[in-house]
Amino acid sequence: MAHIALYRKYRSQTFEDVIGQQHVTQTLQNAIRAGKVAHAYLFCGPRGTGKTTTARLLAKALNCEQGPTPTPCDRCAMCVAIREGRAVDVIEMDAASETGIDDVRETIIENAQYMPQQARYKVYIIDEVHDLSTKAFDALLKTLEEPPPHVVFVLATTEVQRVPVTIRSRCIRFDFRRASLEDLVLRINTVLEREGLTAEPEAVQAIARAADGSFRDALSLLEQVLAYAGGHVDYETVRSVLGIVDEEAVGAVINAAARGDVGKALMAADEMLRRGSSVRTVLEAVAQRVRDLLYARVGALDESLSVAQLSALKALAQHFTPDTLSRMLDVLVRALAQLRNVPQQRVLLDMAMVQIARMKQETEPTSPINSGQTVVQPAAATPPAAEVRVGEGATSPAPSRSEQAQQASPQAAKAPASASTAVKPSTETTPTSVDAGTSELLKLIQGRWEQIIARVAERSRGGAEVLREASPVRVEGENTVVLRFRTEFSYAQMQSEKRRQFVEQTISRFLGGRAVTIRCEMQRANPASQSANQPSNDKQQDDEEINGEQYAQEVAQTFNGYIELEGG
Ligand SMILES: [Zn+2]
Repeated sequence: MAHIALYRKYRSQTFEDVIGQQHVTQTLQNAIRAGKVAHAYLFCGPRGTGKTTTARLLAKALNCEQGPTPTPCDRCAMCVAIREGRAVDVIEMDAASETGIDDVRETIIENAQYMPQQARYKVYIIDEVHDLSTKAFDALLKTLEEPPPHVVFVLATTEVQRVPVTIRSRCIRFDFRRASLEDLVLRINTVLEREGLTAEPEAVQAIARAADGSFRDALSLLEQVLAYAGGHVDYETVRSVLGIVDEEAVGAVINAAARGDVGKALMAADEMLRRGSSVRTVLEAVAQRVRDLLYARVGALDESLSVAQLSALKALAQHFTPDTLSRMLDVLVRALAQLRNVPQQRVLLDMAMVQIARMKQETEPTSPINSGQTVVQPAAATPPAAEVRVGEGATSPAPSRSEQAQQASPQAAKAPASASTAVKPSTETTPTSVDAGTSELLKLIQGRWEQIIARVAERSRGGAEVLREASPVRVEGENTVVLRFRTEFSYAQMQSEKRRQFVEQTISRFLGGRAVTIRCEMQRANPASQSANQPSNDKQQDDEEINGEQYAQEVAQTFNGYIELEGG
């Protein structure tokens, strides 16, 4: 990583300075105090958690002129030489580099037997040891089988399962923990203070989150930010420099998913893109939040979260079942995996948003909060094609099951017209063959319908008025979108060639440039059309239930705007 000056400058120089790894440092100090230092240690753990730093501290502790001592002085010639990386008897190697492999063989086989030149112990620190070749491991193993008394090996790895068992069994193993969010915040604040700088707490939190458990990344990211910020680090600078997704917008997506509000989810994602986040970053941020919710929902503690965040997450997580959350996560992970193969990444993001916003309804058909099966469907008379699942390998319950459940639910009883519509839609022409591609296209357009109308309204108020009387109901052939009109007046208005082209272009822009043509049809007068008002009523009720006072208080107290709260 390019920015490591701060990390080097503030590398821990005493065991006490090493944050979050007391289980390692204290055990090592006790061993030194008792004179029972092993010949080989295996330091396992994620990158940037202090493995190499601790290895150097061990080298100092063993070789300090005042030692061996659990508290090396950090002032004597030996301590200083080790700190500056020029002690001849402390040999650091990176097995990941090409030359490292030969180095390891030669250095270890030929040199380990010789006495140290200046220090008490020769300390070999082999980073990324799992990358050694088989031959190099063999050489290392030979040395470990009969270790010279003056040699200590510290093998560091991020992938311990790739280290041969024969090697592992000859080492004392320590597992370094992923840094917690609080530890990272502490570290960043310490460095800021020593540098004479100030920062907004939200800015520090954002850097800590982006560091993802790594102290090294935390300081490297801080350094990137400092290149742009003056003496004061604010959240907005952090967000723009690191390309961090706005936490509130991520919360808005989750909130929309809790309500089954597809439009809101799409708008929140759109907002993040407009503020400069990439499609990948948005997907990752939402996936991260869903994962946090899943952990909170099943009661698994995640050390990277603060207590306040955890309790807020728990409150929000109660609005989903673990099954729903894991399916949402599945959708997001799939989308991330497909990113590289899809030229129109934006479409992929939109599809993922539509799917996660609908997930709750699909997996929890009888959920009390899920009062509006029809909320996300633009018209009550949506044909069955819209029920086709978006995306491959979806594991949602079969439509027939959810329809039955829906019929049995209290909502269905309250709104018989709507429920019967879902089972027996009054389509004029039943779509004969709707393949997955076109049903995805339809869902996408339906999900963005409000936004499409809003976009049309920017240029043509009349056009928007006309579209408000219409719903996309089918896709025919490759790209013909059928709009069904509720009034003859609007149907007639849409016959204007110019207007039709403008709407086609607008829809196309929402599909990442995919060309579409529009075909208009009139809705047949039937009783089901009376239920056209139903969705908005349901939505109202939905909002009230979700924003119950207790919930609002819980979240507002602990989250500090972490999620979007409407009227809360
Ligand atoms: Zn010393």
